[in-house]
Amino acid sequence: MRPDYEALIVGAGFGGIGAGIELTRLGITDFVILEREDDLGGTWHVNHYPGLAVDIASVTYSYSFEPNPYWSRLFAPGTELKKYAKYVADKYDLTRRMEFGVAVERAEWNPDEHLWQVRTSDGRDRSAKYLVTATGFLSQPHVPDFPGIDTFAGRIIHTTRWEDGHDFTGERAAVIGTGATAVQLIPEIADQAQALTVFQRTPIWVVPKLDFPIPAGVQRLFARFPLTQRAARLVNTSLLELLMVVGVLHYRQAKIGNRIAARLARAHLRAQVADPDTRRRLTPTYDFGCKRPTFSNTYFRTFNRPHVQLETGTIERVVPEGIVTADGATIPVDTLVLATGFNLWDVNFPAFEVIGRGGKDLGKWWRDGRFQAYEGITVPGFPNLLSLNSPYSYSGLSYFTTIEGQMRHIRRLFTEMRRRGDSTFEVSERANDAFLDRVTDDLQSSVFYTGDCSRARSYYFNQHGEAALLRPSSTLSTLREMERFPLADYAFS
Ligand code: NAP
Repeated sequence: MRPDYEALIVGAGFGGIGAGIELTRLGITDFVILEREDDLGGTWHVNHYPGLAVDIASVTYSYSFEPNPYWSRLFAPGTELKKYAKYVADKYDLTRRMEFGVAVERAEWNPDEHLWQVRTSDGRDRSAKYLVTATGFLSQPHVPDFPGIDTFAGRIIHTTRWEDGHDFTGERAAVIGTGATAVQLIPEIADQAQALTVFQRTPIWVVPKLDFPIPAGVQRLFARFPLTQRAARLVNTSLLELLMVVGVLHYRQAKIGNRIAARLARAHLRAQVADPDTRRRLTPTYDFGCKRPTFSNTYFRTFNRPHVQLETGTIERVVPEGIVTADGATIPVDTLVLATGFNLWDVNFPAFEVIGRGGKDLGKWWRDGRFQAYEGITVPGFPNLLSLNSPYSYSGLSYFTTIEGQMRHIRRLFTEMRRRGDSTFEVSERANDAFLDRVTDDLQSSVFYTGDCSRARSYYFNQHGEAALLRPSSTLSTLREMERFPLADYAFS
């Protein structure tokens, strides 16, 4: 049986685009990229709420081999990221290989034919020798099941389903959630709404955002002398790296980095919020880094505005006219914004049913045992599967570190497989176990296990209480390892 494609990539975000680029470089051009949304760009297509921007400086938040000299600001707005994704996809001739509006529902390894059989929402079955899942970490929206939410008479908008042009003028708005999304969105809604209530369950650490427009002269400089932009990238990446490696991963050895960051965030809050009670309620009671911190110069200040209320009481239920809190008060709401984030651990690892050798169900295996993947990309029992959004795969603060590390892994793996004249790879259980042991050990020094994260409610932790998302390595060592992992860790046939 001949497969329909040599490779099938699921997801047309930056991960899927990166995989497509790497396959093309390897000379594999017979592949398709399936995308459930109606356009490419992943998170930067799905999210288009007001205020959306990167919060990792754009010189770093981009492919290192495809720098864009024309970012308008240090932290580019979301629309520029979407354009950048389109530019890169077109440049590498990937757009014509993409099919939109096609959701993958199930993939199963066929051991006799040595290929993946993939069932999609359009009712077609497709097959491919290699399956690459690039479905993102934050791609399954979390909609809390508040009692009575179906009875709400106003409008409900989840931030991933933003209604462009929705005007809050004259409205009583409510935002549930205070994660990175809410931090960007709340100041924008406050500018329009007549009244805004922010429902906070867990406060977030927020540090100042050193953001400014990049002058045209600097953009021209970056374009004419790419080395200058490389230097800017190096400086910024090194700073982020310091924060990540010292402040988060080596918390046990160097609490000072973490404490400085927390102090900076507290000073920022003091400088921006006048009312001591509001300040107290906005102050996290868990260590910096337990949950993803964010950057903003406008979020805290918004709570000084007379029409903006911070509500920290528990949401009891939703009624047609608004939200009832545990103390029995009803807060009237016209438009309810759910900035309630994503569900990673119940429904996103993996994003659809994946059945490997001997009927092994990836999601069940992860949940019954431990979440794991060799080098955050391959799994024993799942031949020819590259699972880009795997446990312990996220490396560094910019997602592009993860993507580019994985591109290097794919290159090394495929080069060896072809050198041997083989077409099937599978990582050994021994190598996978050793990797899991190592990351588990290394993470013991991190803030996740050494700090106080008990009140953080962080999506870094899974249902077993393990911080199984981040790879505890510096960017440099991740990239190096992805180029040097022992080839004997794989069986080829
Ligand atoms: P999030 O960080 O998971 O935040 C979700 C918020 O909703 C939290 O405050 C959470 O409270 C609250 N929430 C969820 N269920 C609730 C319930 N039943 N009752 C009350 N509150 C509830 O999601 P996000 O803000 O969308 O951000 C997700 C990630 O996306 C970020 O960490 C970041 O990595 C990324 N992001 C990046 C950018 C950027 O780079 N520009 C922008 C936005 C987001 P608890 O904390 O108490 O659970």
